Amino acid sequence: MDIARTIADLRRHVALWRKAGEGVGLVPTMGALHEGHLALIRAARAECDRVVASIFVNPKQFSPSEDLSSYPRRETADFDVLRAAGVDLAFAPATAEIYPPDFSTVVQVSGLTTGLCGAHRAGHFDGVATVVTKLLIQSLPDAAYFGEKDYQQLMVVRRLARDLDIPVRIVGVPTVREPDGLALSSRNSYLSPEERRIAPGLARVLRSVAAAVAREPAAVARELARGANELRNAGFAVEYLEIRDAETLMPVTTEVTAPSRVFVAARVGRTRLIDNLPVF
Ligand code: AMP
Repeated sequence: MDIARTIADLRRHVALWRKAGEGVGLVPTMGALHEGHLALIRAARAECDRVVASIFVNPKQFSPSEDLSSYPRRETADFDVLRAAGVDLAFAPATAEIYPPDFSTVVQVSGLTTGLCGAHRAGHFDGVATVVTKLLIQSLPDAAYFGEKDYQQLMVVRRLARDLDIPVRIVGVPTVREPDGLALSSRNSYLSPEERRIAPGLARVLRSVAAAVAREPAAVARELARGANELRNAGFAVEYLEIRDAETLMPVTTEVTAPSRVFVAARVGRTRLIDNLPVF
């Protein structure tokens, strides 16, 4: 596995592969790799001749009050994981390579970003959209792989690729979970043993709300109220628990009539966790 620190080096690698007629997949990550990231890499490996994985903790998607400085960084171990997974190139640029001091451009996706995490993390999706656009243009892959764990992000990336005519297939990969249901996340490493015991309650409530609403589509309000209560009783500070249309992300407040998902964000202690599941 080669390691590229610069955009020029990344482009050199991709250009050689293209010349040989090889297809390229991109897996963007912020490192601290786990089985969720590996699922994206496996999906890319299965479909592409060459796989690039990027590791970049993107400062623009963290607000000043968030965990940028404490976000887990373990580059050497991550490179070992990528190598073992059969990644061809790790792209791990310094912050200044991605954002020179006079960087002035923002990619902003409207509509899809107004609710859910967009409503609770000011500027987050501008940061995501900007860095993903850059990564896509830098590597020009045939396909790029994103987790359904961050479903709103997946929809935002699909939209920006379409709107900006970036010729890439955006592939969504199902969420990888611990045996007790907790969605894998780099932020799970923040959890104390007691918080880790509480954390699977998030997926449990999602499952029960999704199943109840699938049985009784008009019970949305009741089930969301019950679910939020259950989360609070389990020790979560609930940021949102909502059902939204799976395509438009518009709120579903009374009755489920089209493919929809249940979305949750909640804090356990100081750690913010998100998850989502389809209703049907
Ligand atoms: P991150 O490093 O947290 O920014 O995540 C990088 C990519 O991995 C994103 O597309 C995430 O949606 C995806 N991802 C994170 N956790 C999981 C998971 N548990 N299952 C599947 N994909 C995931």
